Amino acid sequence: SIVVTGATGRLGRLVVERLLETGVPAAGIAAVVRDKDKAADLAAHGIELRVADYDAPATLAGAFRTGDRVLLVSGNEVGRRVPQHTDTAVVAAARAAGVAQLAYTGILGGPEADFELAAEHRATEQAILDSGLPYTFLRNGWYTENHTERLTPILEHGAVVANAGEGRIASAERADYAAAAAAVLTGEGHLGRAYELSGDTAWSLAEYAAEVAKQSGREIAHRNVPAETHLEILTGAGVPAPFAAILVDVDRAVERGLLARGDGDLARLIGRPTTPLAETAATALAHH
Ligand code: NDP
Repeated sequence: SIVVTGATGRLGRLVVERLLETGVPAAGIAAVVRDKDKAADLAAHGIELRVADYDAPATLAGAFRTGDRVLLVSGNEVGRRVPQHTDTAVVAAARAAGVAQLAYTGILGGPEADFELAAEHRATEQAILDSGLPYTFLRNGWYTENHTERLTPILEHGAVVANAGEGRIASAERADYAAAAAAVLTGEGHLGRAYELSGDTAWSLAEYAAEVAKQSGREIAHRNVPAETHLEILTGAGVPAPFAAILVDVDRAVERGLLARGDGDLARLIGRPTTPLAETAATALAHH
């Protein structure tokens, strides 16, 4: 089977949709989920559900079968992901089953991504290499939605507040990254490869502010602030301190150009241009 973990998450759902769209029969897809109820619609499609939790290694024993082509969608609990993903849990289960492919959604730059959020992705890639399993690294760049899903404070304050300076972000939509994942799970020639997946056009936060201003008809400034100020603003707005620190650290990485690279791998894998910032912003504003 083609197996998608995190199949009830936003990216995982899009991967499953894309697999179905490209003609993979539902019976050839298995969804690894931790909450069966959340996956009732997938089961209704005829997709096999395998219930497993990255935190409970015993449950992962039934998640994979010999010859499966597996997409490990990285978990969303920052700080817990090394034990969840690696030789104590998912990688061990995939190796025990003898899967034919383990594709992993890491971060743009792989070993060169030296910021905090990237550490668990680097460790996971290393564990996959050490396992000897046939792998494909999908090093996802930033999701455009990370920004467009947070329009409320921007429209409220008339400002995009950040500490990324003039750094650029080569982002793409989740659906673009999902299409790339579906392509490597169904195509050939992707084993032992690492793809640097990013949007075709990199943009700065000043350009993002200008785009939101243009589309909303409001005045939106780009307000660059020192990292410490940004941290205070985020925690003041109720963002938990550890997560605020990670966001500020990501901005520093953006300033250093770490999320700007444009290798073209994403457009090549999906066979079309990536979704431009203006389009994702328009979708978000329409639903706002
Ligand atoms: P979501 O939070 O929507 O989905 C995460 C998925 O992981 C969910 O299906 C969730 O299950 C599953 N999951 C989390 N913990 C466990 C666990 N212990 N056991 C089994 N499954 C688990 O994130 P997205 O789909 O938007 O993104 C996918 C991943 O990409 C994120 O988890 C994160 O690692 C990474 N990411 C990348 C970003 C980028 O810009 N490149 C930005 C943000 C995240 P459930 O549905 O039950 O909650």
